[in-house]
Amino acid sequence: MTTEKFEIEINTLKKFFELYCKDKHDDQIEKEIILKYKDKEFMLNLSLCPTCYDSINYSFERLKQCQHEIKPRCRTCPTPCYEKIRWKNAAKVMKYSAIKLSLSKVKKRIKSIFS
Ligand SMILES: [Zn+2]
Repeated sequence: MTTEKFEIEINTLKKFFELYCKDKHDDQIEKEIILKYKDKEFMLNLSLCPTCYDSINYSFERLKQCQHEIKPRCRTCPTPCYEKIRWKNAAKVMKYSAIKLSLSKVKKRIKSIFS
């Protein structure tokens, strides 16, 4: 994948994991990490508990190793690379945050209509 796509992917992971972690756990630590991909470096500020930090790092590693030039959605990938248990956990986080984000968008839209 392109470095632009990689940057979008890592920021999506960050957003979703932080949202989930903030709601579910309470021992978040601020960390600044640097991810290298192709010839670029990306700096990210993460605020996650140790467990989520470990999970997101695993996801970043998988993303770096992704062999697809045009990355498919992991769910429909012909060559899935996650260990099963890791996949289940990541899927849970993504699903939770996706629902939460879409709900807050709907709420905002309703507010903007009625206020
Ligand atoms: Zn957490």
